[in-house]
Amino acid sequence: MGDRNAPGAVQVITEPDYEAMVIGAHPDDDDFGAGGTSALWAKQGKKVVWVVMTDGVEGGEAPDMDDVDFMLAREQEQRAAAEIYGVKAVEFLRFPDGHLTNNDETRKAIVRLIRKYRPRVVLTHDPSQHIFAPDPNTEPEATGHLNHPDHRATGNIVLDAIFPAVGNPRSFRELLSQGLLPYRVHELYLFYTSLANTYVDVTETLEIKGQGLKCHVTQFGPNVDMTANLRERSAKTAKEAKEKLGLEMQHAEAFRRIKLHIPPTPADEAPTEVEE
Ligand SMILES: [Zn+2]
Repeated sequence: MGDRNAPGAVQVITEPDYEAMVIGAHPDDDDFGAGGTSALWAKQGKKVVWVVMTDGVEGGEAPDMDDVDFMLAREQEQRAAAEIYGVKAVEFLRFPDGHLTNNDETRKAIVRLIRKYRPRVVLTHDPSQHIFAPDPNTEPEATGHLNHPDHRATGNIVLDAIFPAVGNPRSFRELLSQGLLPYRVHELYLFYTSLANTYVDVTETLEIKGQGLKCHVTQFGPNVDMTANLRERSAKTAKEAKEKLGLEMQHAEAFRRIKLHIPPTPADEAPTEVEE
């Protein structure tokens, strides 16, 4: 850390404004990764903002469809879903779907948004998760799958933005003059991970998540009800929570939680009494 008393030093803000910012690669990743948790926190009166990194135009199977029309349709679906969850704001960064890379431009876009909303918690893809695959020796009939490169890129962009740039007054200095001051994120929740250590009980918002997913018509068609599939998946996650941590839940979302900043409690700041 730099010298806080140096001439012209800028203080790093630690007081959050929003409770949570969910950052997904494509329209629908925020839903799948943290839709139930977002809806739960919104119900508790907490402010949640969603960010979508790419324009989502590769998420279809008709090569002749117009890119701009498709992008706008997916953004509209994502806005409608976010409204159902009670998410307060949605930001679309429109980087090209399928080609997302961790570079100055993408990191700066995330630094800008984190400094603008000052979320206590940032939820995003686990960048270390490259492959999801069961052991073929024990589960010979099951297939594995590869995590989308945009998902891994998103995780890397967000983590590299959070440290060091979001909290560093000397990173992307032009943002300071726009009032976007350095800020410290308190916690990270990583989704799409096999290293989960935290389970959120989403039983009471499961129906809402099903309604939200239904908005993504370009992805699942107009008549597909995702509720049964969602119910099955989140019950499996709850079972994992029971096995790993002894937690009792019907439906859960799983995260790898990392604490980055613990604010001092008033007791920590009180002057220590000296006994004579
Ligand atoms: Zn995705």
